[in-house]
Amino acid sequence: MPRISVEQIEACGVVGAGGAGFPTHVKLKAKADTIILNAAECEPLLHKDKEMLRAYPDEIIAGLQAAKELVGAEDAVIGIKGKYHDVIDLLKPKLPAGMRIVELADAYPTGDEFILVYDVTKRIIPPGKIPLAVGCVVTNVETAYNIARGVPVTEKFLTVAGAVNHPATVKVPVGVTFAEAIEVAGGAAIADPVVLVGGVMMGRLSTDLSEPITKTTGGLIVLPRDHRLVQRYSLSWDAIARIGSSACDQCSFCTEFCPRYLLGHPIEPHKAMRSLEFTMMGEANFIGTQFCCECNLCSMMACPEDLDPKNVCTQNKRRLAAEGRKWEVEANPVRAELHLNNRRVPIGRLIRKLGLFDFVNKGPLVPATCPARRVVLPLKQHVGAPAEPVVKPGDTVNAGDVVARPTGGKLGAVIHASITGRVQSVDGAIVIEA
Ligand code: SF4
Ligand code: SF4
Repeated sequence: MPRISVEQIEACGVVGAGGAGFPTHVKLKAKADTIILNAAECEPLLHKDKEMLRAYPDEIIAGLQAAKELVGAEDAVIGIKGKYHDVIDLLKPKLPAGMRIVELADAYPTGDEFILVYDVTKRIIPPGKIPLAVGCVVTNVETAYNIARGVPVTEKFLTVAGAVNHPATVKVPVGVTFAEAIEVAGGAAIADPVVLVGGVMMGRLSTDLSEPITKTTGGLIVLPRDHRLVQRYSLSWDAIARIGSSACDQCSFCTEFCPRYLLGHPIEPHKAMRSLEFTMMGEANFIGTQFCCECNLCSMMACPEDLDPKNVCTQNKRRLAAEGRKWEVEANPVRAELHLNNRRVPIGRLIRKLGLFDFVNKGPLVPATCPARRVVLPLKQHVGAPAEPVVKPGDTVNAGDVVARPTGGKLGAVIHASITGRVQSVDGAIVIEA
């Protein structure tokens, strides 16, 4: 019998802590032969997963073991970069039977689920499918920690890096502001900072430091407004399309570097760029874009002209999805065998290319946290429908109380109060003041 049930995991509001926030209790109802802990963490300057493994190895192994039993897997694998010898040495003697470590390259995007599954099992997830299609479930380090703890998810670990005084991995109550989390890392080292939320490659730009930390905020990279990455993220679609259609020379480097193309998927960003040149309507039209994972390697690393094939692909992909157009196609396994290993982008080179070399590339876990006086808990911090409030303004709640839950059998996750206090409002988010 599993020691932790999916009902307990559901009641705790556990969601995938490293990405979109897929509800973990739903994921663990599946059956698979292999479960993989994704500790690859390949976004430059992020260190949360490795730091958590170093600080909480027993909890994370217990969470992975519980997930393994729930999905009925025979094999549990921790995928971690081989360069973290100390963490690997710490974990190895603790591994139960049926659990092993696979050492990964220090390259981007090793943490992409498709690449990770290939590196661990040599199985290629078919285009447009999920790891379950090849008998795998992938879970995140913090998610495994939350499974093992078996208490409501009210705290969040994240790396705060870039232009801050003491880059660190911090633990804060869910719902505090970006500004409060940045203060735990010693505060911004520059005036008027902005942040890339979640990472410099796959994150988003925010200029609003009053935004709340959610269950899926994995990192804040603080940058000055004139940093080239901030300028890249600030470009309008109109400018991206106009510059792209006039300057792309069809060298196809973007495709030759694309990790999904190298895995054998039919995504060829240079063809999306070509179609941008041929269509007068300012949008791309290439159906392979639906298999783009938005890793940004084509735009941030490959393109010698500094164009933005990633955004061209995602614009096309969203339009195809809105039109309900889907392409069922097989991968080409030969390409993965021949090219994937030879065209990995080393993280050090990526950091230099992105103009991040001057920032400290460390994020030690620090015990300091922030004494939250007010938290904002968005009703949608997960994949699925927003949760419905079960409290109203004026109610008093204790930390750990349920304040919102999914209704009508919809996909979603329970949300708990992260501090004790009084509910101020429930419109779009539960606001609690201590
Ligand atoms: S790498 Fe840049 S210039 Fe070359 S085909 Fe791709 S978008 Fe065009
Ligand atoms: S963002 Fe670019 S490199 Fe990444 S999967 Fe999409 S097309 Fe390929």
